[in-house]
Amino acid sequence: MRKKIVAGNWKMNKTIDEAMELAVKLQEESSSFPKNVEVVVAPPALYLATIEMIEDLGFSLSAQNCSHHDFGAFTGETSPAMLKAMNVKYSILGHSERRQYFHETDAIVASKVDACLRNKVQPIFCCGEVLEERKAGKHFDTVKSQVENALFHLTKEEFAKVVIAYEPVWAIGTGVTASNDEAQEMHAFIRATVEGKYGKEIADAVIILYGGSVNATNSAELFACPDVDGGLVGGASLKANDFMTIIKSAGQA
Ligand code: PEP
Repeated sequence: MRKKIVAGNWKMNKTIDEAMELAVKLQEESSSFPKNVEVVVAPPALYLATIEMIEDLGFSLSAQNCSHHDFGAFTGETSPAMLKAMNVKYSILGHSERRQYFHETDAIVASKVDACLRNKVQPIFCCGEVLEERKAGKHFDTVKSQVENALFHLTKEEFAKVVIAYEPVWAIGTGVTASNDEAQEMHAFIRATVEGKYGKEIADAVIILYGGSVNATNSAELFACPDVDGGLVGGASLKANDFMTIIKSAGQA
């Protein structure tokens, strides 16, 4: 039985006071998180150290991105070695906003995956098609090549540390969610693709999150799909009550 993960991607939102208020609220509620759900929060990198110091945090921390280098003359970058030293468990990698606005290719994402694993930070690897690709019936090809190009050089042991997030780009921040059938179909396809490369045991174990306009109203149905193991949540993770509802719905799925 796979555990569920509900991860909140705060993106570039909130002042430090607002971020601390939300983090403290979640910490206060953490004793009521369902036991089968791991809650992950990805605040702006600038706030990770401050949030990490909250006592009995009760949720895991993630970066939203990181460098493919460990240390050195890379002005403005965040090192996975530094993340690890601050107890940051995960880093989101290959988010569509990184691909679109910062021109991250599959090759760059693959090198970030390697850097994270080298430093014992677990990648939350994002993949997903744009609307034109779905309309043209190319969504499976797009997602397959993203997964293959960024992950399939890994050994079985390395791959077992990766969390996959399927995030159709047309659903991110738009209020348009993939239907339950569309989400389930793609998640099953990703799992079958993984099985083809790494075998059934690894494929059955890999956690595949859905992301794209998940909210307090639609999360229960999406998370009830057999191959959907929770969510990567943007906008709705910025409000404590909505995020709590989403976390609780994962516990019942
Ligand atoms: C995201 O940024 O990963 C995301 C899914 O955003 P939203 O939930 O706002 O669509």
